[in-house]
Amino acid sequence: MKKTILREYARLIVRCGVNVQKGQDVLIYADLDQPEFVKMLVDEAYKAKARKVTVEWDYPELTKLHVRYQSVKTMGTVEAWQEARQEHYCQTLPARIHLESSDPDGLKGINMDKVSKARQMSYPILKPYQDRRENQEQWCIAAVPGEAWAKKVFPGMRTSTAMEKLWEAILSTARVTDDPVKAWEEHNADLKKRCDYLNSLGIRSLHYTADNGTDLTVGMLERGHWQGGQDVNRRGIAYNPNIPTEECFISPKKGEAEGIVYATKPLSYRGQLIEGFSVRFENGKAVEVHAEKGEDLLQSMIAMDEGAAYLGECALVPQKSPISESGILFYNTLFDENAACHLALGAGYADTIEGYQSMTLEECRAMGLNDSMIHEDFMIGCDTMNIDAICADGRTVPIFRNGNWAF
Ligand code: ZN
Ligand code: ZN
Repeated sequence: MKKTILREYARLIVRCGVNVQKGQDVLIYADLDQPEFVKMLVDEAYKAKARKVTVEWDYPELTKLHVRYQSVKTMGTVEAWQEARQEHYCQTLPARIHLESSDPDGLKGINMDKVSKARQMSYPILKPYQDRRENQEQWCIAAVPGEAWAKKVFPGMRTSTAMEKLWEAILSTARVTDDPVKAWEEHNADLKKRCDYLNSLGIRSLHYTADNGTDLTVGMLERGHWQGGQDVNRRGIAYNPNIPTEECFISPKKGEAEGIVYATKPLSYRGQLIEGFSVRFENGKAVEVHAEKGEDLLQSMIAMDEGAAYLGECALVPQKSPISESGILFYNTLFDENAACHLALGAGYADTIEGYQSMTLEECRAMGLNDSMIHEDFMIGCDTMNIDAICADGRTVPIFRNGNWAF
């Protein structure tokens, strides 16, 4: 891929993605196989007047070794210096860039029981720091191709061809055109228009049906507010948390989901795939799950904590979205969630509550915003999906017909 185009992409992530502020610190999380692109990101961040840029390198092969040789207690212990670092981030509020490139099935075979137990141990210590930073930061998830990932998406091709094809797919879906920043301004305006209409309806619940057997009703928060594209944090800084993004989304009301839903794409959870699955809800809670592949993993996912079995997001994405029309199955949530309607199990987003800026996180949760250590999107959209909105004034308004917007 041409360097000038990659440079545009790096600039887009820094300017439009996290919108680095003058004098702000920047944190980049990336895999070890991406030195070239990360160098561009760091350069662009300094050009945007970042004070200090720090890169946290990850190498999945090391993760495997740590999980194999460390005890649960060691893995789950948060050392004093790690807590000090969390405190530092609460004080400095760096812009965070998460760069994804790893094999969606690359941690297959690791001891998930150990990983889950360690996470359950460390989470209560880390959570207060996370809560303090919630909606204060700018963050952005974007992707670059890794070899194993490219081979998974384009099997049977030479590595170099697969890499080139995955680059093309990533850059086109990320709208890296002649003028990507302008393309994103237009795209953000478009998504906002959709959200404005949805917000005007006063939706109380959504009813999903599809010919695969999906029949699910999900209740909405009284002050629920649809969001899409650009977000604004509590400090008034606009940023794009996902590149790409095609969704209008909202956090539903905890405790109000009834029926069954069938996943239409595989889910990569902690480096392992769950495929061909369904989830049945009663009183908002996932009470029964089945999967053709990875059922144990799915079971352990919804048992991570109390909120992991409740919904945290309802997102609407038409089958006619550019990512969906590419016909590519990415095995990566960042892309696949933008090719189909999806739900998320786990934590909801406080910023999908009207006036959240003047409320505490506790107040948002008391209204019915779900809280959990997980937030896992899974795809449910398909060509036969119909969605109706049941509104506060008693009207039923069609939102989706045959997988696309009904308005
Ligand atoms: Zn989403
Ligand atoms: Zn999500």
